[in-house]
Amino acid sequence: MAKLSVEDLDLQGKRVFLRADLNVPLADGGVADDTRLRAVLPTLEHCLKAGARVILASHLGRPKGKPDPKYSLAPVAKRLEELLGQPVPLAPDCVGEAVETQARSLEPGRLLLLENLRFHPEEEANDGAFAQALARLADCYVNDAFAAAHRAHASIEAITRYLSPPAAGLLMRRELAALGRILERPERPLVAILGGAKVSDKLTLVQSLLDKVDALLVGGGMAFTFLAALGHGVGRSLVEPERIELARRAMAQANRRGVHIGLPVDTVVADSPQSGEGRAVGVREIPGHLMGLDIGPLTLARFTQALSGAKTVVWNGPMGVFERSPFARGTLGLARAVVACGAFSVVGGGDTVAAVNQAGVARKIGYVSTAGGAFIEFLEGRTLPGVAALAERS
Ligand code: AMP
Repeated sequence: MAKLSVEDLDLQGKRVFLRADLNVPLADGGVADDTRLRAVLPTLEHCLKAGARVILASHLGRPKGKPDPKYSLAPVAKRLEELLGQPVPLAPDCVGEAVETQARSLEPGRLLLLENLRFHPEEEANDGAFAQALARLADCYVNDAFAAAHRAHASIEAITRYLSPPAAGLLMRRELAALGRILERPERPLVAILGGAKVSDKLTLVQSLLDKVDALLVGGGMAFTFLAALGHGVGRSLVEPERIELARRAMAQANRRGVHIGLPVDTVVADSPQSGEGRAVGVREIPGHLMGLDIGPLTLARFTQALSGAKTVVWNGPMGVFERSPFARGTLGLARAVVACGAFSVVGGGDTVAAVNQAGVARKIGYVSTAGGAFIEFLEGRTLPGVAALAERS
């Protein structure tokens, strides 16, 4: 069933508690990448135009439950001001009398940004009294923080007991629609691509995707645990020995279901990720003293071939240490192949999104998610607390 949306609410003159994910990377006292701020603009602009008084809230980084100027939302306020073209005052805190007074005196069509929610340990503890203090600032609640929806935190879950009915923002709605399209009646063939460092983070995802996809392509560090399960020597590549048996079982599961699992047939090896260059070798010939840091050209060609004819593609995790140019070719090449195959593509996770940006193809991706952890948990088929807490549209 569809969730109640911000467009279903009568916002005129109302104080709206808007939970967003403004957790952006910072550098030199400013916002290094404002993608997440731009992503919430449609909801913000909708609320402001409808005459709402917006109380905007987010976490930033991991300040360990106490105020820390390093994690202040001040740089976010400054960048939002530029993007919106209107003042974005930053409250000194996110709860308390002074903030309540500020929220009460806000004019319709104006915005107040609360200071970092995680300056209070009660936020991550999903504390009821803290949620109630947040709720006192507003008349209604909108959640646009899909990227944080896998967390049962006070501003995401507990607050919905005090501000009703909790509604989805426009970004939340877009994310749910795009990712829902993967899980419910995707156009087939559906191909999933997984990469990144650790297999342990993604084994549950592998298992659940095997029930849904027609093919699964595995690259990145996590591929070496699968290669080890097939009996290959993988040198000093990233391997999680305690997961080898689970990787073997996943491959047997794929076999039974008739799902093709594509693994690297060659890899770019070097001494370390800091090496200035690498060379491609077959996965049967990985020297014992080297590590695989990217998929090789043969693998890229095979993965590209596996994508041809795909109607839906979902991708999370780089194919190699793409942050270093000698090991970026596989990831960037695959980004181009995903776009070239013409399928509806959905990409999620900070590294993968950075890779499609770096390859210059982000605009041709069907949907670029703002989420990492929530993206993975949603595809695992788990119920996200922040989504479950939203009201259904009657
Ligand atoms: P994740 O957060 O699990 O998606 O992992 C992303 C990280 O995996 C990136 O920082 C990559 O540099 C790293 N990575 C990808 N492939 C490899 C590899 N073959 N060996 C070591 N690290 C890798």
